[in-house]
This record gives sequence, C-alpha cells and structure tokens, in this order.
Amino acid sequence: MIENAPLQRLTCGRFTIEGYSRAAVQTYWRIPELKLGFDLGAQPWDFMGTPSWFVSHTHLDHLAALPVYVARRRMMRMEPPVIYLPDYAVDWVDRMLKCIRHLDRGRLPCELVGLRAGQEVELSRELVVTAAATTHTVPSLCFVVWERRRKLKAEFAQLTGDQIRDLRLSGTEVTYEIRMPLIAYLGDSSPQGLDNNPTLFDAQVLIVEMTFVAPSHRKDKIHKHGHMHLDDFVDRQSQFKNEHIIASHFSTRYHPNQIQRFVERALPDMLGGRLHLWV
Ligand SMILES: [Zn+2]
Ligand SMILES: [Zn+2]
Repeated sequence: MIENAPLQRLTCGRFTIEGYSRAAVQTYWRIPELKLGFDLGAQPWDFMGTPSWFVSHTHLDHLAALPVYVARRRMMRMEPPVIYLPDYAVDWVDRMLKCIRHLDRGRLPCELVGLRAGQEVELSRELVVTAAATTHTVPSLCFVVWERRRKLKAEFAQLTGDQIRDLRLSGTEVTYEIRMPLIAYLGDSSPQGLDNNPTLFDAQVLIVEMTFVAPSHRKDKIHKHGHMHLDDFVDRQSQFKNEHIIASHFSTRYHPNQIQRFVERALPDMLGGRLHLWV
C-alpha cells in the first residue's frame, strides 16, 4: 500500500472511521463499510476505492484532491464516482475539471450532484444521507448518514404471517419506516451549525471540527469566521449523546501536545471517554 497522506482509524461497532483533518491543510474522512466519504482536501491512495463522496464546502483544504480522486479511479478502471456537493459549486467544479482535463490530457469521468440544505440522498434501501446548512464563511453543508428499516405497525403485531401477507397484498401499508442516525459530519461551522441540527448530537458517531482550543483565543472572532472553540464543547457537554465524538480540524498554530493539554484541562473525563482527538 502507498502511504501518501496521514490517516487515523477508529472501529465503532460495525464501521471503521478513517480520516485526518487540519484546518487550512487538508480534510478527508471515509467509512469503507458504508462505501462513502466526506471531503476531498487530500486523498490517501486507497481511498479511491470508495465510490461516493460528500463535499461539505469548497474551501481548498476540503476540495483540492477532487480531480485527483476522479483521475485515479479512471486510471484504475473503476466506475466513475458520484460526488455530492453544495449546489452553488457544481458549475464551478465542472469548469475546474474541464481546465484540468485540458492540462492533464486525461478524461475525468464523474457525476457531480448538487445538494441543498434539507435534501436527502438514497444510497441504498438501508442507507440515506441528509444534508443541512452549517454556518461558515462560505455556504457549507453538514451530513447525517441514516440507517433505515421497516417495522411492523403495532396494530398488526398479533396477526399471523399469512394474515400480514394478505393485508399487504390487499394494499394495506403494514410497516412504517424508522431511521437511526449512524454517522454525522459537521464539516466547518460555528456552534450555530451544531445547535441548528440537533440530530448531530444523537448520531452514533459525530465527526466534528474543533479548530481552536487555547483559552486566549477570542471566541467571538472564531465564531465570526465560522469555526468552533473548545469552550463551545464545554458549554454543550450534556447534549452529546453520541457513542464516539471525533474532534479534529485543529488550527496549525497548535502543537499536538498543546491540543491534548488544553482539552484535558477543560474536559478532564473527555466526555466520559467518548471524545477522541485526531491531531
Ligand atoms: Zn476547513
Ligand atoms: Zn472552511
């Protein structure tokens, strides 16, 4: 395997979260078992095997590797990928790909799908991804990956299998849909983006930005620039219902030891051991 980009891993039950994120450097995540990834700031070589990608916004540290991803899949004779991105960006990214096609002299086959806040994507019968708005300096989306199942309605619970089948054949809807939020990805946002989308607090795994951690860094300025501070997590610590919270996208001004120290001082039990710092 070619190791061209740093990567961390966490196994969460049935899934593996893989990724890396530093503000203004590069951000990329994927969940191989769900065959999807978030953001394309850079691309570890074997991420090309994942066929669907969700881009939160068009800052370069989240987008720069998009052409590389498309080109590698073509070179390795994989199906063209489907890349979901904020709808304002589709025309521009298409133009960017045309320029690169000209420079690199290679085709860049992919499907670009524009998404607006409130829209959802059916990836399969079991998997749905919803998009919502975050608050950043450019329009930006957060994503929630839901597992959906159908459950038998309570009023039919006493019936036999045959009776249920007959009802179904006669056109009666015997089941209803339930959805469980598996993975939530905030992307870049001020705390408002989190507060406006409370599902993020309920997902099994939350991948979240924590760009600033030093007590001396002014929060009003950080929020104005569309980012989160460690104190925003302290203020909301009772709201996180997630099994795992992966915090990343730390500013390059901090040394990894500094990040660890500031966070452990502010949240000594690391949200009950659920908070992981990916530095
Ligand atoms: Zn960023
Ligand atoms: Zn950004």
